[in-house]
Amino acid sequence: AATQKPSAEIEGAALIGITVHKEIDFSGWYQQVLTKGDMLDYYDVSGCYILKPWSYTIWEQIQNLFGCYLEWFDARIKEIGVENCYFPMFVSSKVLEREKDHIEGFAPEVAWVTKAGSADLDEPIAIRPTSETVMYPYYAKWIRSHRDLPLRLNQWNSVVRWEFKHPQPFLRTREFLWQEGHTAHLTFEDANSEVLQILDFYAGVYEQLLAVPVIKGKKTDKERFAGGLFTTTCEGYIPATGRGIQGATSHCLGQNFSKMFGITVEDPFAKEGEGKEKLFVWQNSWGLSTRVIGVMVMIHGDNKGLVLPPRVAGHQVVIVPCGITTKTSHANKDSLYKDITKFAAQLTEAGIRVKADLRDSYSPGYKFNDWELKGVPLRLEYGPQDAKKGQVLSARRDSGEKSPISLNNLVPSVNKLLETIQNDLYQKAKHSFDSNIQKIDKWDDFVPALNQKKLVLMPFCLEEACEDDIKERSKRTDSGEAEDAKAPSMGAKSLCRPFDQPTGLIPGRTKCLACEKDAKEFTLFGRSY
Ligand code: AMP
Repeated sequence: AATQKPSAEIEGAALIGITVHKEIDFSGWYQQVLTKGDMLDYYDVSGCYILKPWSYTIWEQIQNLFGCYLEWFDARIKEIGVENCYFPMFVSSKVLEREKDHIEGFAPEVAWVTKAGSADLDEPIAIRPTSETVMYPYYAKWIRSHRDLPLRLNQWNSVVRWEFKHPQPFLRTREFLWQEGHTAHLTFEDANSEVLQILDFYAGVYEQLLAVPVIKGKKTDKERFAGGLFTTTCEGYIPATGRGIQGATSHCLGQNFSKMFGITVEDPFAKEGEGKEKLFVWQNSWGLSTRVIGVMVMIHGDNKGLVLPPRVAGHQVVIVPCGITTKTSHANKDSLYKDITKFAAQLTEAGIRVKADLRDSYSPGYKFNDWELKGVPLRLEYGPQDAKKGQVLSARRDSGEKSPISLNNLVPSVNKLLETIQNDLYQKAKHSFDSNIQKIDKWDDFVPALNQKKLVLMPFCLEEACEDDIKERSKRTDSGEAEDAKAPSMGAKSLCRPFDQPTGLIPGRTKCLACEKDAKEFTLFGRSY
């Protein structure tokens, strides 16, 4: 219905509020939601952004979530034996270029330091776009025997990729925060099982913390990590634009890097008397970036601003005093404020992140807007009438639903509501994802489905040339999607070969819908970020 409006302006929007419709001008909306919701500010180097405390807190929650929920990513990887460390951000060209396929993939995006002050450096030094080549010379030095395996290191750091695609806050930035795990194993089986375990953790970050559904699968050869053996991924979907987004990737590097960097151990299984053969170790690398925050914002945010899932919100609950007028006595106001401070203490004690908004210079209405813009999941209103009834009035950010909560039951009721909100956000997004995946059985349905903002699931030959062809054939020819006019291509890419395959593909019989050769697997395609 929103698209029938003549302009993107939301009528009567207060100056501080969001002034464009998500459904009409998506990039304008995204920009406003992020800046007015206090997540981020623009910076004077293109493609770089400032993460303000409100978004950085979310990143901290993802790293390590304390409070009433489980500890998250950092704790999980430590539990399976990964240790954190830090390597320098600089890498010499000699080392960076050692793995040929890898550098070919990254070369166009590498930023170089060429000067110190006004003097040229003897050798330009690269800034890591990822740290395989930074770390692996040291893996070769440190791994002396099979007893040193598995070696499992992780860094929480930033990397620089001087991308020429249209930059987007969080989704595609030139410097971004992430974690990169790099592990070495004796056998393929060990490496493989870790790749999948990490992918499950990534899906957990999306689904359990950010309330964002994802589809797990393998990348096609065309889309796999440069220099790796295979790439697993979790793929998300932004309903407002109909685009897929690569959520996070866990790569099995095979032995390619260990061969280039000489990371070997003696075969511990060789029989007595036989010459001990050198084994090249099996390696993995895996990364999850601050992109996750952008995906969450795009999916849950609405025309009032951010909508944060309770598990990652900096404040899960805000309490606002209401119903205070010029006629309210000092004593009554003090007593309300005291009560609110007490409720906040009770909730904090129970591990709930709560803010008592006792700012005197702002009206309740202003505060409501302010916290709605910032996406706080639950607001509690408390005034003289509520005090008499022994209740607070709760208002959900996601649905706007209001209901009274008895003060006798404050902590359990708030906990329950937060869980309900978390769950409802996920279910809503899941329903939208599921209903926008179209399984097709003829090529003619491919482009129309994309144009209806859907992702397409179809039998595919897995061949690179066919994938190039699909991209070409699915480029937009109409002038729609004005907001993304800067995007280089509207052609569809393969997103993943879902682990959870639909039935109906008969090997040797079912054909690839694009080229008529034998289909190997159902593959998910979409226009993507
Ligand atoms: P990769 O090392 O290329 O597999 O990247 C690991 C993950 O980082 C990807 O799955 C993306 O989610 C994320 N990522 C890649 N490039 C960017 C970027 N320019 N900005 C933010 N996140 C990124």
